[in-house]
Parts: sequence; C-alpha cells; structure tokens
Amino acid sequence: MSDVTLTIDGIEVTVPAGTTIYDAARLAGIDIPVVCYHPHLTANGLCRVCSVDTGGRVFAAACVTAVNPGMEVKTQTDSVCSARRTILEMLDATVDLSESPEVLELLERYDAQRGRFEGARRESPVHDDNPFYIRDYNKCINCWRCVQVCGTDAQYTFALSFDGRGFHTTIGTFMGEDMPDTTCVFCGQCVGVCPTGALKPKRQALLEQGMDPDEIFFATRRGRRNRRPEAQADGD
Ligand code: SF4
Repeated sequence: MSDVTLTIDGIEVTVPAGTTIYDAARLAGIDIPVVCYHPHLTANGLCRVCSVDTGGRVFAAACVTAVNPGMEVKTQTDSVCSARRTILEMLDATVDLSESPEVLELLERYDAQRGRFEGARRESPVHDDNPFYIRDYNKCINCWRCVQVCGTDAQYTFALSFDGRGFHTTIGTFMGEDMPDTTCVFCGQCVGVCPTGALKPKRQALLEQGMDPDEIFFATRRGRRNRRPEAQADGD
C-alpha cells in the first residue's frame, strides 16, 4: 500500500493510504477530541466532535475521513473550536450528561456555555427488565457503540438496534421487547463501551440507590431474583 504525506497543524506526517485523519493526527502527536468514536469499533462520524478543517466547504469528521496527498488539516482553528463547542452545547441541551465524564471534560475544555440552547430534551422510561443491566436512554447520546458491539463488530447477537427518526431516534430492541425476550446473551459488552451511563450494571445502579450489598446479590442472581437467604435455607 502506498504512503500519503500531508500536514496536520503544520506538522508533516506520512501514513499509509487509507489512514484516517484521526489516526494520522495521533501518529503526529495531535489530539483530536472524540465522543462517539471507540478505537475497537467501526467509526461512523456521528457526533462530529472530531470535525477538522481540510480546506473544503464543510468540516470533515476526522474519524471517518481518509487522508489525501498534500492535504492541509487544521484541528484547532477558532472556527473548528467554535463548531465543537456548539455541538457539545446542543448535546448538553438534549441529553442528561451527568454520568458522561469524557463529554463533561470536553464541555469544560471548549468553554461550552451550558444552558445556551433550550428545547426538547430526551425523555425515556428507564428500562429495568433483567438482572444484569439497566437502560436509561435519558442519558443516551446515540453514539451507536452498543449497537455495533452487539452486532458485527464483536458479538453478532443483534439484540440492540435503533428506532424512530431524526430527533426521536433512540436505541432499543426489536419491537421494544424486554431484553430477556431478545437475542441478548448478556455478555455485557454494550455496557462496557457505553460512555454515558445510559447502560449500567444493575448492581452498580442498586448500590448507587443505597441498597445493601447482600440484598443486591440476591436481587440480581439469575433465576433466584426473589429468593431470600432464609427461604433458600428452608429449601423453599
Ligand atoms: S446506550 Fe450508550 S453506547 Fe448505546 S448509543 Fe446510547 S450512549 Fe452510546
């Protein structure tokens, strides 16, 4: 495969053809912020926080845009930073980011004005339908990581997909089925890649609610959810 030479923030870098701007920048020691991107999952350029200036009419999403010979990429101009700030402010206006440490750090780094935008917020019931994890889509930023890890990027179980269109697009199960009625094998990989706390281990959620660890243990053991220790000792 041939190599491609370009400049990123004035630094010349040579990378194999097909490399993304994001990966080329990392090789040059330049950090481009990301939200939806995960190094072990297919990038989709959904959040656009990794937008960079390549001299074109619109900014390019660095995580999905391949380098070109002679390309001059700028990752930190005022307009690039302003675009990122606006994206983050709009995200903050829509979703509960209280358990999204990486996004909260970016809000601070880009001096985002929280409360700048007002409008409809994501509203969803919390899905507590299995002993292993809860789904709180009030905190979901539609990054798509859980869908991909559940599908062709890792698990091939396809229990998670999306529903709705535009602003109302949400992650969910086929026909809104409870998780035990889907193909989910409760591998936990979706929980592991979720950056916002929208997917959370049930035990963590119960601990945060102040439940006693012993209670949690018996409440979350599969098939024994309602059995108390005394009931088991009695052989009930
Ligand atoms: S549930 Fe989590 S991993 Fe899935 S799309 Fe929402 S924020 Fe991303």
